[in-house]
Amino acid sequence: MKALQFMSPGAFAVNDIDVPTIGDDEVLLASRAVGICHSDIELLEGRYIIPFGYPIIPGHEWSAEVMDVGSKVTSLKPGDRVVGECVIGMDHFGFSISGAGAEYFVAKESWLHRIPDNLSWTQGALVEPFSCGYYATVRADNLDGSDTAVVLGAGPIGLGVVAAASAKGARVIVAEPSAERVAIAKQLGADAAVDPTSPGFLEEVQELTGGKGASVVFEASGKPAAMASALEVAGFRARLVYIGIDVGGSAPAKLGLFQSKELQARGIIGSPGVWPQTIAFLARTGIDLTPLVTATFPLAEADKAIQTVLDDKSQVKVHYVSEVA
Ligand SMILES: [Zn+2]
Repeated sequence: MKALQFMSPGAFAVNDIDVPTIGDDEVLLASRAVGICHSDIELLEGRYIIPFGYPIIPGHEWSAEVMDVGSKVTSLKPGDRVVGECVIGMDHFGFSISGAGAEYFVAKESWLHRIPDNLSWTQGALVEPFSCGYYATVRADNLDGSDTAVVLGAGPIGLGVVAAASAKGARVIVAEPSAERVAIAKQLGADAAVDPTSPGFLEEVQELTGGKGASVVFEASGKPAAMASALEVAGFRARLVYIGIDVGGSAPAKLGLFQSKELQARGIIGSPGVWPQTIAFLARTGIDLTPLVTATFPLAEADKAIQTVLDDKSQVKVHYVSEVA
């Protein structure tokens, strides 16, 4: 079978390797759609947050079809459509253990969730990144149609926040310099857009919110300056949710605003425990996340998909898919 493998730092190829065998509690899966994430590129470059070894098959944002099940597997059968969680105890699927970037791969029954018929393979492979955006809205304390939310940053996670906040009824203002990403944000429900790099950015948000500021601010850019500006676009008693990642950067911030605006802020990591809700929410709301996918390659050309992510920074989400998907 064909498998994408990271061979050593910076080196990757689609190789022919044996189809894996399954144990009693395991499931053999056929990849249908796999997304490439920024953390895959970190893995390729050899700087991932937990230990791993080469060669490794990446792929933690995926959908797949069940091909075969071990003798102790009771909840799944061949033909079932599934997605799977990536943090498994001390291991990370697609990082420290082989992932979904191959024609066939193995997972344990307990990691998997069945996806409803009305979600496509592509939508299934977006459950993982979307679960983070969805979780951010869960952590924004009763976000609803009375809220005006500012979303700082429209990468894959920020766009998921836009879609989830909008589906929950909030008015959404996206702050993003890229016109392409703003266009996708509007397709996913953003009501207005502002350029956070323009000198009039804060005044524009004030204008769009009738001078009140946002009732909810989501920081999804991971840029320290944006993290600081979240305090300024926030209105009185606003809820701030920080999901963008930065390690060790800094920027000046008006910290007195926490007190004078009675702000509540929290940081969140990933999407712990919310996969079943995320899938139910997607199925029920009918949110179509496919505008996030800006390029698609056949699985046999997964190496070209990786090269595209490396070369073209305007891509939002690149997928590689099996022929039958
Ligand atoms: Zn990811």
